[in-house]
Amino acid sequence: MKYRQALETASDDRDPAVDEADASDGAPTDDSTDERCELPDDAPRLLRPGQPLVIPGVRARDIRQATGGEGGRARGLQHTVARGETIWDLARAFGVSVAQLMAANALSPDDAAGLREGQRIHIPGGGERRRRPEERLSPRQRRALAEARRLGLGTKEVAQALLRGRVEPQWMRAAGGGRLPGTLRWPVTNGRFVRGYGSGEGAYHLAVDIAGDMGWNVRAAAPGIVAYAGDEVPGYGFMVLLVHPGGWVTMYAHNSINFVVAGERVPRGAVLAELGSTGISRGPHVHFELMFGGNNCDPAPLFRPGVRHRSRYARIEPIDWHEPNAKPASIQCDRRRRHPQSRWVIHE
Ligand SMILES: [Zn+2]
Repeated sequence: MKYRQALETASDDRDPAVDEADASDGAPTDDSTDERCELPDDAPRLLRPGQPLVIPGVRARDIRQATGGEGGRARGLQHTVARGETIWDLARAFGVSVAQLMAANALSPDDAAGLREGQRIHIPGGGERRRRPEERLSPRQRRALAEARRLGLGTKEVAQALLRGRVEPQWMRAAGGGRLPGTLRWPVTNGRFVRGYGSGEGAYHLAVDIAGDMGWNVRAAAPGIVAYAGDEVPGYGFMVLLVHPGGWVTMYAHNSINFVVAGERVPRGAVLAELGSTGISRGPHVHFELMFGGNNCDPAPLFRPGVRHRSRYARIEPIDWHEPNAKPASIQCDRRRRHPQSRWVIHE
């Protein structure tokens, strides 16, 4: 558990979008910890006490503080769960990730999903209640927000415009030019396909749902710029929208916490958020949408290494899509649909 938290603390404290982020294809991704330790992504619980672990860019004293060792327990506070309070409420109120809360309290995903009134929860870190989000921003993220303001990105209105299919030319330029990324990275490394494009009553669900555990990394499917990161669009919970070169837009919804801010340029594979179940959601998953030209498109043939099911990849002919004006005929795109019964369920 100690090592698990050390690893997660390392990835949380690091700038998630990678410092040398640029919008070009082949930019470095954010896998350095996993690669150096030869760990599968999103599987820190495989760690065992005594196992040597290389954590790039993290100092030993930071880890001792984060794991509660050597007086670290005093950093942080004890919180008694109130009626109806969820782990997401605590993460939000105290400015810590769900993964950190789970690690600090040895909670399984089921434990975390079912906090009981009166339960004592250790809040790791400084434990100051309700720090304002802007106080936790790195200097680089503050610069990104200034860039977002200059480009007119980052607001609820921008999110709604993107959902309606409006992508301003300057956003595309900021994302890295006019040629599409061609393919998409599967956004949750060990995440499982649970629901696809065109599923649901009246085929309303023009998205792919990827299930995983709370706290897993949600990663950028392609290089681009963060156009929106927030929770102001009803139904989606904490959501990130990226604008990619050539005008693709991707969405990552229902996160437990977003790590990126508007205006950040991210490479393919950058950690954007922590997987969760905020908004209208029946369990921890990412609701992923690919939008282009006012339509939602089926991303399935674009995913590399493929659409991951529980124990295999789906048999789908892989396709590249580089030219905005030359959509491959086998990639289906349709206007966003409302759920026939509900104005909210569209976001599930
Ligand atoms: Zn969905």
